Formats: sequence, C-alpha cells, structure tokens
Amino acid sequence: MTDSHAHLDACDEPAAALIERAEAAGVTRIVTIGTGIESSRAALTIAERHEGVHAALGIDTHQAGQPEAERLAELRELLAHPKAVAVGETGLDTVRRFATPEQQRRLFDAQLALADELGLPVVVHNRDADDETAAALAPFTGTVVLHCFSSPGLVMTAVERGYYISLAGNVTFPNAVALREAAGAVPADRILVETDSPFLAPQPMRGARNEPANVVHTVRVLAEARGATVEAVAAQTHANAAVAFGLA
Ligand SMILES: [Zn+2]
Repeated sequence: MTDSHAHLDACDEPAAALIERAEAAGVTRIVTIGTGIESSRAALTIAERHEGVHAALGIDTHQAGQPEAERLAELRELLAHPKAVAVGETGLDTVRRFATPEQQRRLFDAQLALADELGLPVVVHNRDADDETAAALAPFTGTVVLHCFSSPGLVMTAVERGYYISLAGNVTFPNAVALREAAGAVPADRILVETDSPFLAPQPMRGARNEPANVVHTVRVLAEARGATVEAVAAQTHANAAVAFGLA
C-alpha cells in the first residue's frame, strides 16, 4: 500500500520507527508532505534516508499571510531534488482562517504556477472552499491530487477534470455516510488513500496520534464502500499513487 499523504517531519516518533511499523502493516510507500521551507527540507532528509519515502514540498495555506509565503525561490530550489515528486500541500481553507482569502489564493496560484513550470503534480488542501478551489484549479493542466477529500459535492467536477481523490481517515468516521457514498462512486483509477499523519486517525484509532500503518483502516472502509476486496483496493491505490506521483 501507499500512504499518499503523511507529515513524517511533524510526528513525535522518529520517522524510522514509523516507517518500520508501516512496512510491517504492508505500507511500503509513503509520500511525506512539507508545509513550509524547513518542513520541506526535513521531508527531503527523511526521503533521502528511506527508499520507500518520497516528498511533496510546499508552503501551506495557513502561512499565506506570513513571511514564509515569500520563500518561493527556495521552494523552487528544493523541488529540484530527485526525491521531490510534487508541489504542496497548498490550497484554500475557510475554516482555519490564518490568512485572508486573497493571501491564500495568491500563494495557491504561485505554487500552481511552480508545479506547471516544473511539470510536477500538485497536492491540494481544500477545507470548505469547494467552489474557490475548483475555480483556482480550472486553468491548471497538470496532475491534481485532492488530499484529505471531504467534499461529496466536488466529486463530479473532480472526476470530469481527471483529478485524483485521496481519502483519509475521515471516510471511516460513523457520520461520514455521504463521503463514503461519494468515494464508492469514484473511478477506480482515480482513488488514493492517505493518513495525513500525525492528524486525523481513522476508526478505530480515532483521537490517537496517527501514523502511516493506519492507512489499512481507510483501505478496509473504502473496500466496503466500493464493494471490492481489501486486496483490490490496496493494489489499485498503490498503483494509482505510482502514476499520480510518477514513481517507479
Ligand atoms: Zn497534510
């Protein structure tokens, strides 16, 4: 399996321990996500040390009003690293408003331009900003991964545009009926799974610190929602991650 979105640099435990437990659970590939320049450097260091780990590098939207948002030249340099496979996470968030919508959009657009320039996929954070996110992504012609997908209303647009839909632990929550239904209808070649570790642990670990090994719970619930076997969903999402992120 592939955990398509984890923040190994933000976890309490050393990455090596988390990666070992992930491998024991069948999770042999992890895309670790940078949220700023120092975080992206840390993500690359972990990726350098572990063959199954690749990195997405970005400045997250919560810092769109901070000096961090001006460090795009440094981000471009880091993205030249052979283990850097995507730009992000970047996007829009109307729930945690640490920056104005205009500041968020400017930083999102700048990173979309960077992804376009470098021919890299973009990992998108969208929290209650479906319309704004769809509008910002409309001119972007590269590969899009909608991380921690939580917008049943956005499925149709996402599928039409060929975006990858990455399901996280929230799809396992008892009240996520509409999300499970939506996830069940996504074309098989567009689905990814992720943990967003150390955040958002799935049932039955909800409330605990999350880690990549827990992606198996999301795979299990997704298999139920799709009427497929766990093995099929595990294999399909693993293969999709290789295509989405250009991995061998
Ligand atoms: Zn994340």
